[in-house]
Amino acid sequence: MITYSDKSIELAQRLQSFMEQHVYPAQAIHAEQLAQAENRFSPLPLIEELKQKAKADGLWNLFVPEACGQHCEHGGLGNLDYFPLAEMMGRVLWSAEVFNCSAPDTGNMEVLMKYATPEQQERWLKPLLAGEIRSSYAMTEPQVASSDATNIELSMRLDGDEWLLDGCKWFITGAMHERTRLIIVMGKSDPDNPDRHRQQTQLLVPRDTAGVKVVRALTTLGYDDAPVGHAEILFDQVRVPAENVLLGAGRGFEIAQGRLGPGRMHHCMRLVGAAQRALEITCQRVQERSTFGRKLSQHQSVREDIAVSFAEIEMARLLVQKTCHRMDQVGSAEAFRI
Ligand SMILES: Cc1cc2nc3c(=O)[nH]c(=O)nc-3n(C[C@H](O)[C@H](O)[C@H](O)COP(=O)(O)OP(=O)(O)OC[C@H]3O[C@@H](n4cnc5c(N)ncnc54)[C@H](O)[C@@H]3O)c2cc1C
Repeated sequence: MITYSDKSIELAQRLQSFMEQHVYPAQAIHAEQLAQAENRFSPLPLIEELKQKAKADGLWNLFVPEACGQHCEHGGLGNLDYFPLAEMMGRVLWSAEVFNCSAPDTGNMEVLMKYATPEQQERWLKPLLAGEIRSSYAMTEPQVASSDATNIELSMRLDGDEWLLDGCKWFITGAMHERTRLIIVMGKSDPDNPDRHRQQTQLLVPRDTAGVKVVRALTTLGYDDAPVGHAEILFDQVRVPAENVLLGAGRGFEIAQGRLGPGRMHHCMRLVGAAQRALEITCQRVQERSTFGRKLSQHQSVREDIAVSFAEIEMARLLVQKTCHRMDQVGSAEAFRI
């Protein structure tokens, strides 16, 4: 039987009241502000207002893991304890940003907490934890199958005391957002290294560096996902100082594995919440709408669909819970080993 800590239960109760008081009633305002925005990728006033409220209520940086507890007020949470909180935020997908818990910033902050130097943390982690800036993580490339990250080709080479980057990335979340200041870029720095997992390096690239060109905003299933968005970016003869390297040359793959384990699970946690909310809305709707003389809820096929969805969501929830529990016990690298 999986149980949550007292800290997780207490935070979940406070988060639920916040959602009921401030987030659910603001959904129409969010849609309206986005529809009326001159630039679809600029911060929405509603989010900025709710961020201040969440910060004041101590519902801030809830994603920070136990091992990095010194970076947040609540002292950090394990993956399992974070699950009910992330599931609740997933019920209104844009709400994660209100609590400074949105992707890709959470994964990027985790990278900076674990691998950055004190100087790098001062420059990038501090404003990210304060919710003042946003960031992107650039790994995927159009020309290669990027689910196998050893394939990536963006060239990184040391030229004197600078790194020189050349290549293209796509589906880079947040790169168009007005507040994005940092892109963590993974590239190939040592293509001839016989160890395929030591060929990659990760660099901290300020968004406004010369040669960083956002080519276009991409869509997924027709959605541009504004105001966050997913961009194609060209790195055209981009130069950054040698000290912008994370952890060290050749250690990029190691960082990617450390980052993507919890980062991917956070998406799963939120999507369980999104699915649960959709089911609840469906259940309300079928009580209100009637066809052929009866409510939708009285038609057998509708009842069956709802029952199947309920079972599927519960299965997904249990699988995510089990994975989180295992990650807490043995670490994400071991938990995902098949
Ligand atoms: C909305 C959105 C946001 C994203 N944000 C970011 C971002 O911020 N930064 C970033 O770097 N990338 C981002 N991505 C890209 C995403 O991480 C990649 O699409 C993903 O890693 C897969 O890479 P690929 O598209 O090159 O697919 P490919 O690697 O070409 O894979 C093709 C197909 O093969 C399947 N496949 C691959 N390996 C296996 C395997 N071992 N077993 C079975 N099937 C397999 C895949 O499931 C897929 O269906 C985003 C994508 C989307 C849709």
